[in-house]
Amino acid sequence: MHHDVLIVGAGHAGAQAAIQLRQLKFAGSIGLVTEEPDLPYERPPLSKEYLAGEKPFERLLFRPEAFWPERQIALHRNCRIIAVDPVVRAVRAADGRSLRYGTLVWAAGGTPRPLACPGAELPGVHVLRTRADADRLHAQISAARRAVIIGGGYIGLEAAAVFTSRGMVVTVVEVQDRLLARIAAPAQRLSAARA
Ligand SMILES: Cc1cc2nc3c(=O)[nH]c(=O)nc-3n(C[C@H](O)[C@H](O)[C@H](O)COP(=O)(O)OP(=O)(O)OC[C@H]3O[C@@H](n4cnc5c(N)ncnc54)[C@H](O)[C@@H]3O)c2cc1C
Repeated sequence: MHHDVLIVGAGHAGAQAAIQLRQLKFAGSIGLVTEEPDLPYERPPLSKEYLAGEKPFERLLFRPEAFWPERQIALHRNCRIIAVDPVVRAVRAADGRSLRYGTLVWAAGGTPRPLACPGAELPGVHVLRTRADADRLHAQISAARRAVIIGGGYIGLEAAAVFTSRGMVVTVVEVQDRLLARIAAPAQRLSAARA
């Protein structure tokens, strides 16, 4: 199959690129690829309302299911790209599918750094990036009373807030000397700036 524009990654960047192309009246064929089984969805609620069970998955979708065929954007789900051949302008998926392209947009996002220590693969150790991760975590916290969160950034702290609101005892482990260290300035610098 050939697409004039093939976008690998159906997160904010990839899905919005496809939507924007149609808004700009691009008339060529567009393919949007995701390795996940789901329609394109936003991740931020995964550590907030979705994890808490307060928002159904349908409300995380960027657009309703009918939008994509209506705009003639071909969705390729469960399609993990494992090779790009820029000479013949084609990508190959893990299941053997081959997609040819005129222009390739690589919007595959990032992945959480997995724990490298022994035990990282044990049951009860989670990462939180996809809907499937959030579903696994949600299923387990219904019976859990304690949680240890490794990483005191936004996602870790949001998960901590969900867990404590369910009455769980939460311990946050952070390698830096304070929370949100990579994102926010220390409190005293903020006070000095206000003075
Ligand atoms: C739990 C959580 C909470 C967050 N909360 C916030 C927030 O409150 N505010 C905020 O600003 N940001 C938040 N973020 C960050 C925000 O979601 C990301 O910045 C945003 O999703 C990045 O979009 P992206 O399109 O670049 O990548 P992603 O959303 O990571 O999308 C990547 C896409 O590429 C696909 N993909 C990857 N590799 C392949 C491959 N080899 N083959 C095929 N497909 C592939 C994936 O399936 C996915 O569709 C949060 C992220 C998470 C995980």
